[in-house]
Amino acid sequence: MLTGNQIRKEFIEFFKNKSHKHFESASLIPDDPTLLLTVAGMVPFKPYFLGQKEAPYPRVTTYQKCIRTNDLENVGRTARHHTFFEMLGNFSFGDYFKEEAIAWSWEFVTEVLKLDKDKLWVSVFTTDDEAEQIWIDKCKFPKERIVRLGEDENWWAAGPTGSCGPCSEIHVDLGPSYGGDENSKLGDEGTDNRFIEIWNLVFTEWNRKEDGSLEPLPKKNIDTGAGLERIAAMVQGKSNNFETDLLFPLVEEAGRLTNSKYGDNQDVNFSLKVITDHSRAVTFLINDGVIPSNEGRGYVLRRILRRAVRHGRLLGQSELFLYKMVDKVVSMMGEAYPDLKKNIEHIKKVVKIEEEKFSRTLDQGIQLVNQEIEKAKKEGQNKLSGDVTFKLYDTYGFPYELTEEICGENGVEVSKEEFEAKMEEQKEKARSAREVIMEKGQDSFIEEFYDKNGTTEFVGYESSEEKARL
Ligand code: ATP
Ligand code: MG
Ligand code: MG
Ligand code: MG
Repeated sequence: MLTGNQIRKEFIEFFKNKSHKHFESASLIPDDPTLLLTVAGMVPFKPYFLGQKEAPYPRVTTYQKCIRTNDLENVGRTARHHTFFEMLGNFSFGDYFKEEAIAWSWEFVTEVLKLDKDKLWVSVFTTDDEAEQIWIDKCKFPKERIVRLGEDENWWAAGPTGSCGPCSEIHVDLGPSYGGDENSKLGDEGTDNRFIEIWNLVFTEWNRKEDGSLEPLPKKNIDTGAGLERIAAMVQGKSNNFETDLLFPLVEEAGRLTNSKYGDNQDVNFSLKVITDHSRAVTFLINDGVIPSNEGRGYVLRRILRRAVRHGRLLGQSELFLYKMVDKVVSMMGEAYPDLKKNIEHIKKVVKIEEEKFSRTLDQGIQLVNQEIEKAKKEGQNKLSGDVTFKLYDTYGFPYELTEEICGENGVEVSKEEFEAKMEEQKEKARSAREVIMEKGQDSFIEEFYDKNGTTEFVGYESSEEKARL
């Protein structure tokens, strides 16, 4: 059985043997002002795809470190989403196209990974007869297991105009015990956890013009992305990425550092998965030069790091532990990413400082909640008002979830609706404050500043509700 590290190597070797140049993983900080983080293998090659720069090699292969914050809430809830993950990819810049891309992915999946052919499904874009025919003719893939999917799933575009094209994706069917029944097909409702998408092949062959019409690109490109952790899970017969050899030692280390055990119950598993995932994200973000702050990438780092610490608390660990996870991450990934070893002391230091800071916030917050509870009880109340829970959050940065939890332990009520109403009120105030300023005729710099930061406190790139859950 292939280990995760072997799969990474085999992939690169496979495409090197097909005349691809192996490029090292690019930084998580993209060389692209329009992007916060590297979210896919193609990001470093955007200028070649868009024809802004000449590609130095027509065929390239990489394993690329990626961060996706849009999947943050999925971590630990689905079996297959991470914030940090590795994407294996092969790219053609105006060189080979659909036929080779499909045939080679098939060869790799069936001959190198040796996945069970009968469990594979593929999707093609609604109108992509050509891709379907290649799957049938060149790969002898059964037509019954080819599904046509629409724009949401199987169309890729660089933006509203510019290069775009259909995709074809390879999925593994885990069987009816993961959703649906014997007759379910890929894409059916309720089968999200059953059909695992492992590889996305993107055929960029069109240029979308200003008027919305499509014209064929003079040079057609291939961009593929396969999640290493998902492939490892499928190869190793695991239904959950966290149980592969790429991640399980980290789950165990997280358990050791928080005195808890994977498998004890769903809550423990969830927290251990979050810590595992986030410890990799944090390590790699700092390794690429990010430090915790209240905006941009620094905020992403801060948010992920604090979420991990918070899950440590949920497991009963109130001592510093997260910075110790860094050693394990580096020992497991240092071979594939050698600069980790060089930066390890710096990474640990940054994690430790932020961990300490957040721990103090938490300790202070816990005290404050207890005081509020006492006060309420003295007044004969069995409840903390929305005013109080919101003040704890807004003034002291104390997560609402924690207030709720501590109150629960003390048999005191809180109301999420009241908390949210206060939050809404606050947002409303911020909005009108902004309007007042605008009416006074301030320049667009201020408008931009408030758009970005709000009038009171910056809460980052997603909703402040997210922050409350941190
Ligand atoms: P999904 O539908 O499962 O969220 P996706 O369609 O968003 O995946 P793509 O953008 O097509 O993913 O990325 C290419 C591949 O990268 C996917 O086929 C999958 O193997 C992997 N991948 C995507 N997102 C994640 C993630 N958050 N964690 C781990 N692997 C991922
Ligand atoms: Mg996704
Ligand atoms: Mg998808
Ligand atoms: Mg996809």
